[in-house]
Amino acid sequence: MRRTYDRAVSRRALVTGIGGQDGSLLAELLLDEGYEVYGVVRRSAADYTNLAAIAGRIELIEADLNDHPALIAALERSRPHEVYNLASVSFVPKSWEEPVLTAELAAVGATSLLEAIRHVDAGMRFYQASSSEIFGEPLESPQHETTPLNPLTPYGVAKVYAHFITRSYRRRYGMHASCGILYNHTSPRQSVEFVPRKITAAAAAIKLGLQQELLLGDLSARRDWGYAADYVRGQWLMLQQDEPGDYVIASGQAHSVGDLVALAFGYAGLDWQEHVRVDESLKRGSAELHDLIGNPAAARERLGWHPDLTFERLVQLLVDAELEALAASPQPASSA
Ligand code: GDP
Repeated sequence: MRRTYDRAVSRRALVTGIGGQDGSLLAELLLDEGYEVYGVVRRSAADYTNLAAIAGRIELIEADLNDHPALIAALERSRPHEVYNLASVSFVPKSWEEPVLTAELAAVGATSLLEAIRHVDAGMRFYQASSSEIFGEPLESPQHETTPLNPLTPYGVAKVYAHFITRSYRRRYGMHASCGILYNHTSPRQSVEFVPRKITAAAAAIKLGLQQELLLGDLSARRDWGYAADYVRGQWLMLQQDEPGDYVIASGQAHSVGDLVALAFGYAGLDWQEHVRVDESLKRGSAELHDLIGNPAAARERLGWHPDLTFERLVQLLVDAELEALAASPQPASSA
């Protein structure tokens, strides 16, 4: 069933969610590796800022993840060797506001894409963007590939469906289908509603006198954060293996929101206590997840993957990028 994989021929990849942080970083990696890159987008006319640097080097195909004939047409047009499914609602609180849309995109969308691949050519390799949210309230910590799933958020529940349907297709149809269980990862391309960008954008804006204060939720909340450019390399590596599999991609270390604040403001030469206020309405209460820490040992051993950036360097990189962006166009980023 699985076709031989000739690395000498020029390869094509199709990426859903290509306009997002991970999609655009992955597209750049694939271009560097010599791929022809196609992206599935909902509206090809939309302004994809993250794709500005590579717009002329990729082809965008308009298709909704729930439009099965459109997905088949996209696969027939691009004939990819590798398909990366990154499209989803990504901001977890939004999944409580739009649980049905979240399920349609993340759960049904993944199924629809797997079915379309099976219809067009089951030899295409498939990557499913799974997430640490599938562990929800974790039954052990740190988590690894066989930790039982216990999702809490609509996002996590939808991602569990996609995780298991990917494994079903791997087993039932012998597809080279892999799940990357990625922990929180950030970059200057992450949307500013996520806390690493929200904090570093504010630190830069306050430093330049464009903003006075920053409102945050729970400063003691902890996450295992890494650099998105390192993490998309893990996605690609999974599809270069002879056998498909599931892999945790994480730094293996958790830090608190307060640690992130102290590092970002300290690096910008500011005293965070003068600027940061806790807003109770931004706390997640019973929807908050704790103890999400990944053990990336399998990725290290089998994929040769390891994160290149330390947490401290990551925070510095984010602050530098925000300062640079503000110097070019002094508008503080709006935040959630
Ligand atoms: P998530 O892990 O995918 O939900 O990523 P986020 O960046 O949105 O949140 C990471 C952690 O930061 C969670 O534990 C949030 O509760 C916590 N947090 C604290 N204050 C804020 C805030 O003002 N905005 C966001 N987005 N998260 C916050």
